[in-house]
Amino acid sequence: MKSPHRNQTSEVLKQINDPGKTVIVITSPAVRVGIGDTFGFAPGEFLEGKMIAALKGLGFSQVFDTTFGADLTSMEEATELRNRVKDGGKLPMFTSCCPAWVMYANHRHPELKDNISTCKSPIGMISSYLKHIYTKEHNLNPNDLIIAALTPCTIKKMEIVDTDCDFVITTSELADLIKDKSIDFRGLVDMPYDALAGSSSGTIFGTSGGVMLSALRVYYHLETGNDLPDDLVSITKEDHYTTYSITIDSQVIKCAVVSGLPNLEKLLPAKDEFIFVEVMNCLGGCVNGPGQPTHSDQDSARVIAHRQASLTSSDRDNSAPIRYPYQNPAITAAYSHDISPLLHKH
Ligand code: SF4
Repeated sequence: MKSPHRNQTSEVLKQINDPGKTVIVITSPAVRVGIGDTFGFAPGEFLEGKMIAALKGLGFSQVFDTTFGADLTSMEEATELRNRVKDGGKLPMFTSCCPAWVMYANHRHPELKDNISTCKSPIGMISSYLKHIYTKEHNLNPNDLIIAALTPCTIKKMEIVDTDCDFVITTSELADLIKDKSIDFRGLVDMPYDALAGSSSGTIFGTSGGVMLSALRVYYHLETGNDLPDDLVSITKEDHYTTYSITIDSQVIKCAVVSGLPNLEKLLPAKDEFIFVEVMNCLGGCVNGPGQPTHSDQDSARVIAHRQASLTSSDRDNSAPIRYPYQNPAITAAYSHDISPLLHKH
C-alpha cells in the first residue's frame, strides 16, 4: 500500500517473497554517491556496482536506473519549453521534478501553477513506462509488476501516491536493510544494471543544475541538430541563484538554477528575466536529500561537495558510454511507442 510517511522496506520484502510478483527497483542518481557513507567509504564515492549487487542480494528481480526516466524528463521538458517559446506559452517554465518545490508552489505561489512544467518526475516517467510499455513487451500483468523507487528523498513517498510507482525506499533505509540482512557491502562484487540505461546527463540530475544542463542539451539539439559543448554554456553565480545561458542564432536563452526555497523567494522578483528555472528544495540538490545518510553540520558542506563532484565527474568522463539523452538507444526505442501522453501530469 502506498504510504506518504512509513518505512516500507518490510512490505517490499513481502512482495519480493511473493512468487506471483515481479519486483523491480529503480535507483536515483544520488543514492550511489551517498550509500557508502554508512559503510566507511570516502564521502561521495561512486558505488553504483555495489549498490546494484546489494539490491540483487536482497532479491529484486531487476535493477533499472532512474536516469532512463531522467532522460525522458529532459526530452519532454526541452520539447515543452520549445513549444512554450514558439507558441507564446507561459514563461518562465519551472521544473517539476522536486515534489517539495511543487507542493510549496501549490500552497505559497498558486499564481505560478501554469509556469510549472507538466512533465512527471523521472520516477513518475520510468514507472509509467514500465507499467504501460515494458509489461506489454514482456507479457506481464501490470498488477503483478511491483516498482520500488530507491531515492535520496523522503518527500517522494508523498509524490508516488499519484504515480505508477508502488513503493519508495530511501538511501538510509536501504543501508539499514543491508545491515539487518548481514550483507557485506564492502565485499560485494560490482554488478551492472539489467536494462534501460540512462545517459550521463541523467546522472547529473542528482546535483543542483543537472536538470537544467541536461534539458538545455536537448533544447540546443532540437534547435540546431548539434550537441551542446560545455564551453557554450555560460554559468554565472549570483548571491541566491546561478544563471545558465546559451546563445542560438544570436538569441540568448537565459535560465536560472536555484536550490533552497528561501533562495527561490529571492529569485522570484527577477523571474521574468529567464525562460526556464530549475528549482530544488535541498541545498545542492538531491545529493543532500532528507533520505541520505546525515552528517554533522560541520561536515555536511564538504560531504555534499564530494557527492556533487562524483556525479558531475561521471558526466565529464569521456568513457561515459552515452552523454546526451537523444543519443541513448533505450530512449530512441522508447519513442518508437506513443509514450508522450504517459509522461505528463495532465
Ligand atoms: Fe527530494 Fe530534495 Fe531532491 Fe527535492 S531536492 S526531489 S526534496 S531530495
